[in-house]
This record gives sequence, structure tokens and C-alpha cells, in this order.
Amino acid sequence: MQYREIGNTGKKASIIGLGCEHLDGKPYEQVEETIHTALDHGVNYLDIFMPGREVRENIAKALGNRRKDTFIQAAFGSTDINQQYDISRDLPTAKKYFEDCLRIFGGYIDFGMLFFIDSEEDYRKVFDGGIADYVQKLKQNGDIGHIGFSSHKTDIARKVVETGVPEMMMFSINLAFDMSPSDSYALDSLSENWQGTDLCGMDAERMALYSLCEQKGVGISVMKTLGAGKLISPEHTPFSRPMTVNQCIHYALSRPAVFTTLLGCQTGEQIKDALGYLQADEKDKDYTPFMSELQDNFKGKCVYCNHCLPCPSEIDIASVNKYLDIARLDESNIPPSIRSHYQNLGHGGDECIACGSCEDRCPFDVPVIQNMAKAAELFHD
Ligand code: SF4
Ligand code: SF4
Repeated sequence: MQYREIGNTGKKASIIGLGCEHLDGKPYEQVEETIHTALDHGVNYLDIFMPGREVRENIAKALGNRRKDTFIQAAFGSTDINQQYDISRDLPTAKKYFEDCLRIFGGYIDFGMLFFIDSEEDYRKVFDGGIADYVQKLKQNGDIGHIGFSSHKTDIARKVVETGVPEMMMFSINLAFDMSPSDSYALDSLSENWQGTDLCGMDAERMALYSLCEQKGVGISVMKTLGAGKLISPEHTPFSRPMTVNQCIHYALSRPAVFTTLLGCQTGEQIKDALGYLQADEKDKDYTPFMSELQDNFKGKCVYCNHCLPCPSEIDIASVNKYLDIARLDESNIPPSIRSHYQNLGHGGDECIACGSCEDRCPFDVPVIQNMAKAAELFHD
């Protein structure tokens, strides 16, 4: 397993995490087998947004004393009044469900999530209705380790990140969402037939959101990595052919600030299949052929795909480009964390000897030599 820093929290999560949604309603033996397989293979990050007591208790029982080695993100505001899954912005109701969750998982939740903030109204109810204040108190009291939030909407997510409250975000990320027009709502694509949707180049607002998260040290856990299965389905893929699971995972993990992809598995076998990503070679994971279908829209923009390697100076070109993109958001005010990530790369843009081999290999005509020079200018004192 590989592990990544969760933003600025100082904690590290497995790059493959488990979305536990599909364990809801399953017998305990199945929950136990799935959780144990995940933990045995090094998965240490679980999303438990489900409000049902039985599934929460089954997961906690299966974790047993390995709970302390596992990060749990749990939602504040997820309810199942009258056995109907719902979202509540009513503080006493949301408190009741979250306190139950705290009790079940040993009195502590690692990441307390402000749940499903997708509209201005959601934002107002969470931030002006006492919920955000309450979650901050939970953190002060040590009941939760960190505050996170979940969203599917770029502009609203940006607004939440800019409050400075959350330390991480769960966001829906996949290649098709990132290529959809910025005013489209990701979840609509999943309920409708995706084919025929106008995919364009990378949506600038979504890219800017990921860069903002990296800039502010807000880690991203990814949901909808496979677009609810549509990206890998021959009938529903928006591309000319289905993507593979490895391509979808690799795409999500290549975005700035992403620390884990949450995969919705309901058996140990499914976990093992997902973990096949860790053994896959670069060719199996390569997602750029799907971008090449719209090559003109990507011209000149780095998509962090690593096709340009190897570099004779051993520069990690994609990472330099990633930090450069963030630095360019505000060149006079580059966050120290980004400067430090750049400096830890080992080989910087200043080591570029302008051999040009990377530019020959880049499918998207990125001006790498120019970028390396710019990175050297911005990052070197
Ligand atoms: S420079 Fe080109 S090949 Fe290299 S990571 Fe960026 S897009 Fe990929
Ligand atoms: S041009 Fe610079 S960055 Fe590109 S391969 Fe050559 S040395 Fe590396």
C-alpha cells in the first residue's frame, strides 16, 4: 500500500480508501470479511456517511481493536428518520446522530464532515445555523480530530474552503466530471444518460479548486471515482469506450491535493480487485488516450500524466508543473507548504538542461522547458 499526507494534518492515509456505503444492509459476516480484507491489505481510511445504527455497529465490531489504526470520516447531518436516508440541518437532530456515531466508534471520530454542501442554501444553513460552530466545538473538545466537508459543486466547495474551517474535503472527481462544463451539476450526469454530454477540455474552475486545496493544505478524499460505475460501463461511458478501474483511480490520484480514492466495495474480493491498481503498470493506468480524443482542448496544459519522463536531470516534471500551477495563482504569495513540497522534490526546474526530450514526448504540447525556467525563478531564492 502507498500512503499520502492528508493535507496539513500530519496524518497519512492509504491511497485506496473504503467507501462503506454498500455495506449498509449486509449481514455482519460480510461486513467483517470486507473490513478485515481491507485492513489486512493496508487500507486505513474509511468513509462512513451512512446514518444507520446497524451498519455503523457492524463496522465498529469488525474493526475491533484495530479501530485505533484506522481513520474514519463520518458525516454530520446524515440521518435516517423513519428509516429514510436524509440530510438534516437541524442542529439537535444532527447532534443526536453524530453523538451516536461517536459512541459507536469509541468516543472519537478522526474526520467530522460537514455533509453535502452543494448550494448556497446548504452553505447558509451549515455556517449560519450553528452546525459549523458546533463541529468546531467538537474539535476543541477532542471528540473529532479534524473538520472536513463534502460537496459536488465547485463554486460552493471553493467558498467552504475559503472559510478556513475545513482541513479536508471529500469531492466527486473523475475525468468526465472534470471535462464537463463548469455550470453542470455532477450528480445530474449520474442520474441521466451521460452519453451525448458535451465534454470539453479540463474545466478551469475545477482545476483551480484542487490547486486552492493544495495551496491551503486541504487534502481531498475522492468520491465517484468511477462515476457510479458509468465510466467503466460500455453502455454508459461518455467516451468512445469505457475507461478501466485503474485509469479512473490513477486519474483521481494524479489531481493536486488528493490523498485517497474511496472505492465502494462490499466484499473482500472487490477490495482485492481494487488493490490491483497498486501492481498495475504505467500503461494500464494511462488515462491520456481519453483526453487525446479532445486533444486541442488540452493543448499547452499539463495534466500530470508523466508521459514526458524520463528526464536526464531526473526532474519529476509533473510535480514541478503541479506546484508551478499553484504558485501561479498568486506569484507574490506562494504558500510555504508549496515551496517546501517543491524543495523536497530532489531535482528542481533549475536543473533542466533544455534537452527537449520531454517536449517531444508530451501529448499536449506543454512548454516544459519554459515551465522549468519559471519554476526556477519562482521557487529558488
Ligand atoms: S508535461 Fe506533458 S507529458 Fe509531462 S506530465 Fe505534463 S502533460 Fe504529461
Ligand atoms: S528539457 Fe529539461 S525537463 Fe525536459 S527532459 Fe530535458 S532536462 Fe528534463
